[in-house]
Amino acid sequence: MLAMLKETPIKVLPHCRVCRSAHPRFVTDFGNLAITNQFIADEQETAFRQPISWHECGSCGVVQLSEPPPLEQLRNEFPWLVYREPEGHLDATVEELIRIADLNSHHRIVGLSQDDWPLLRRLQSDSVKLFDPVMDLGITSSHYGMETVQSQWTVNRARQLAQKYGVFDVMVARYALEHAHDAAEFLAACHEILVPGGMLLIEVPDCSQAFRDLDVTVVWEEHVLYFTERTLLQGLSAAGFETSHFQRVPDPLEDRLVWIGRTNRSTKVETPTLAVTSTDPDVSRFAEQWPKQREAIRAWAGNIWTVGGRLAVFGAGHRACTLIDIMGLAEFLDGVIDDSAEKQAFRFPAGSLPIRGSKALLDRDISCCLFAVNPGVEDRIVSRNSEYVARGGTFVSCYPSSSRALRLR
Ligand SMILES: [Zn+2]
Repeated sequence: MLAMLKETPIKVLPHCRVCRSAHPRFVTDFGNLAITNQFIADEQETAFRQPISWHECGSCGVVQLSEPPPLEQLRNEFPWLVYREPEGHLDATVEELIRIADLNSHHRIVGLSQDDWPLLRRLQSDSVKLFDPVMDLGITSSHYGMETVQSQWTVNRARQLAQKYGVFDVMVARYALEHAHDAAEFLAACHEILVPGGMLLIEVPDCSQAFRDLDVTVVWEEHVLYFTERTLLQGLSAAGFETSHFQRVPDPLEDRLVWIGRTNRSTKVETPTLAVTSTDPDVSRFAEQWPKQREAIRAWAGNIWTVGGRLAVFGAGHRACTLIDIMGLAEFLDGVIDDSAEKQAFRFPAGSLPIRGSKALLDRDISCCLFAVNPGVEDRIVSRNSEYVARGGTFVSCYPSSSRALRLR
């Protein structure tokens, strides 16, 4: 991969990516970060790094990347690296969709990408369609993800597809909107493919807990938009959609937001400038506080090093990569622990650290292991590594919601 270091990140974003309001406010700069799916084959290889910073829209309130990485840098080259979205709530979501849209066998329903099939197949309808990535979305790359799908979902393409197939009554696009570099275009394309008053179903991660907890692992170069319940509703309203249903799906790491609404261009209104209320996550506080967290966690890691201990991070995923990079932890780490054989054949994108199986906790005499996995699976990992714990090894978690949360002050 091409080595490239960029200058400082852009401090001026001309327009909000969601509502196109002018001059979103610069929030914070996380520095030049590795792309989290770029596992390194050769220690000498210099990874591409992208300046990552946030802006916040003063109108719809959506926090967004100032400058997303180029698409060719985001494409995942490894077939074994897959991201699975939760499906446990989908039966209830489908029931709700059928009820709200009053769906019958004559209604025509379309899904944007393969990721929408788990929901569409639950509808058990013959009038369900999934866009073909090559024939319909024009994707030519053999390896691609949502970064490519979102770039192909434009007003022009939606118009062509509406001519080819006719318009649809319902469109489903789960885990797509947060990847959209131009969400205003993405949502305008949804209007084009739907009948007037047609329904859109989307699902996005909720970032409000991460904003409150000062959890920097929420930052992910693949996510261009960082929604909360409030900003999701504001953004969709600004794009001409009227909310019909809203569902929060709890998760130990990050709640999900399911939204169903109708196209309603006639009632499009200018969203008022937001006033932060006591219940809103304060992104300014996040911006002010995370560098102090960085100092504190570096001091903690440095102390382990100073007294001859060894520190490792558990979980070679995108959140660990972000944590190590933003917090500047690589110099204090023995390596990253992960039981995926595929990942162990590479070095980690952040810090080019070695990736080893959990056997290394004992073999390398690791004294403290910092979890960067979903708190919901920590107990299982601890019980699988009982010998490590019996020998005095400790597990702590980088997540404030974990019972093993690292308390720095
Ligand atoms: Zn906006």
